[in-house]
Amino acid sequence: HTVRVGGEAGHYDIAIGPGLLDDAPRFARELRGRHALIVSDAHVAPLYADRVEATLRTARPGVQVARFVIPAGEREKTLARFLECLDALAALGATRDAAVVALGGGVVGDLAGFAAACWMRGIDVLQLPTTLLAMVDSSVGGKTGVDLPQGKNLVGAFHPPRAVIADTATLRTLPERERRAGLAEVVKYGAIFEASFLDWLEHHAQALLRGDDAALSEAIARSCRYKAEVVARDPYEHGDRALLNFGHTFGHAIEAEQGYAGAGSRALNHGEAVAVGMVLAARLSAALGRGSEADAQRLRALLARLGLPTDLPAGLDPQALLARMRLDKKAEAAGLRFILWDGVGEARIVSGVPEDAVLAVLQG
Ligand code: NAD
Ligand code: ZN
Repeated sequence: HTVRVGGEAGHYDIAIGPGLLDDAPRFARELRGRHALIVSDAHVAPLYADRVEATLRTARPGVQVARFVIPAGEREKTLARFLECLDALAALGATRDAAVVALGGGVVGDLAGFAAACWMRGIDVLQLPTTLLAMVDSSVGGKTGVDLPQGKNLVGAFHPPRAVIADTATLRTLPERERRAGLAEVVKYGAIFEASFLDWLEHHAQALLRGDDAALSEAIARSCRYKAEVVARDPYEHGDRALLNFGHTFGHAIEAEQGYAGAGSRALNHGEAVAVGMVLAARLSAALGRGSEADAQRLRALLARLGLPTDLPAGLDPQALLARMRLDKKAEAAGLRFILWDGVGEARIVSGVPEDAVLAVLQG
């Protein structure tokens, strides 16, 4: 599959398929300069960085390649790691035509993309997503950045990739928990854009859970098409791109409040927090007279079948979560802003949501 992203922020291709990390001609088309910095994490680099480096050398003989490898996990998406990444670019002698090659999940992609956005005011980044979540969401659309202790993604830039190359064979080494987390973002597209995609997911839940190649590829391509469409219409999130944040206001608050999940942590990871967040958003919608309890139940049932959490983890304080949401980028002066829905496939941006309604949903 190839999905093309267009629009005023730039054009690029998303290539999806098994074995693409070895596709030197494709890399040759996207690489311009003499320097490439592979950015990856401690789980992914040992599995795939040698192959990527070999492909880069075949694609562009004489290229200077260096690696910057961070420990795995959301906790590493920091300004400190960002600065180290800039150090690695400086040590490589990276010029304006250098490329950052982001090999990993959304953490690596966001961090590497932000370094590419800032180095010499912007150099190419090739996104090579290796998690389902990164393939269907974070590698596409040009949002890059890092977290602060105060909240997620508070520092960043829009910097569309030069290309996205998603080698679906890399998903075979992805831990099952991470595959399920990615499925949460896939469900999100059905929930906000198209009831028939939710039907499809309900029919293919078992295959997706098993990691069936054909079902996963289909889910990735369809998800990328939804994301590409929205991003082309609204690259800088002045309008309906915000719909992609369905479940995320709650989800980000959960992630921030519990402390970001390190590798192997019992805390919810991003996809899991979004799964809970989508159920809360659907319930908040119903409480405000939008959508129905039945729609909320349908969403919850699908997420549960996919092995995702659907309830707020015990021990999180609703007042503290509410305070986090006030700081979220989606909050405004007029009250809280949420992405709610009028039913499956019909997401809406809703401003001025009263805090007591939110609190009631958080309290169960
Ligand atoms: P992640 O990058 O932490 O990856 C999850 C885990 O899987 C890590 O431990 C990683 O080392 C491991 N891993 C990755 N690929 C692997 C593979 N093929 N085999 C074995 N292990 C592998 O997390 P994620 O879920 O990919 O991304 C979450 C991040 O993405 C969050 O920071 C979130 O804010 C961000 N995000 C960004 C956007 C955007 O538009 N920029 C959109 C959605 C999410
Ligand atoms: Zn997300």
